[in-house]
Amino acid sequence: MTQSVDAHDPLDGEQRDGSMIKPATGAHKPRVIAIANQKGGVGKTTTAINLATALAAIQKRVLIIDMDPQGNASTGLGVDRRARSVNTYHVLMKEAGIAQAVLATDIPGLDIMTSGMDLSGLEIELIDVERREFRLADAIVGIEREYDYIMIDCPPALGLLTINSLVAAHMVMVPLQCEFFALEGISHITMTIERIKARFNPGLEIGGIVLTMFDKRNNLSEMVAADVREFFGDTVYNTVIPRNVRVSEAPSHGRPVLIYDIKCAGSQAYLNLASELIHRERQAASQ
Ligand code: ADP
Ligand code: MG
Repeated sequence: MTQSVDAHDPLDGEQRDGSMIKPATGAHKPRVIAIANQKGGVGKTTTAINLATALAAIQKRVLIIDMDPQGNASTGLGVDRRARSVNTYHVLMKEAGIAQAVLATDIPGLDIMTSGMDLSGLEIELIDVERREFRLADAIVGIEREYDYIMIDCPPALGLLTINSLVAAHMVMVPLQCEFFALEGISHITMTIERIKARFNPGLEIGGIVLTMFDKRNNLSEMVAADVREFFGDTVYNTVIPRNVRVSEAPSHGRPVLIYDIKCAGSQAYLNLASELIHRERQAASQ
């Protein structure tokens, strides 16, 4: 009996054999990073967009994959809804190749595969399909060489869409809002990550917890940050993303905050996060 992490758990009752396990392959190009947390509103999409923009700004080739049916990453990058007619849904259903679904954004070096509302029905549509957890991993094989980083913006749930993202990823980044119950919420995602590692993707790493919407005037933010650091140690990024009104304004202008207002505290924090990510990767590679 598998321990359930969700009321409806797509991992339950599956028979798995070794042939389905993806081998860990050491040095990766591109790095595939899933930005995941089953809670909504914690800063997943904001982190995906701005980390991707910061990496594109230093001449990396980056693809964002929008796995959330709500399509906030697509909207936040100013992609018109009419341009999203071939999207992640069609690729995961094998109705389109990934090259047909990838669009260039206004930011040089940054591409996006948009999402659509149909994506919310994927779990049902693939219910009897073999290797349904590998749809995204299989789809990105063809385009891997074109990118340095692929950032997957996960939906706020631990269902099949997030599972596909974690199976396709080398690393998970978990944005954590500095609020009460933050630690409790993180046990769900860490449990899911452990199960994905055991069954499908042994090379998956928890690449880091990012504290978001930190409010320095609020003692609770400080207390939560201290608790999370005590519990997770180095897994927590030194960079903290502050609560910043410019960050929340940017999506309505269809632009990453890094483009909307590069000088604001939120943009500076995301630039620091990108350099910390690169620094950590270099350190890991030299060990
Ligand atoms: P998720 O993808 O986890 O649901 P979002 O990235 O969409 O979360 O963020 C939720 C809301 O909070 C959005 O309206 C976003 O603009 C806002 N937001 C995210 N990060 C910050 C921040 N650092 N400061 C202020 N508002 C933020
Ligand atoms: Mg989101």
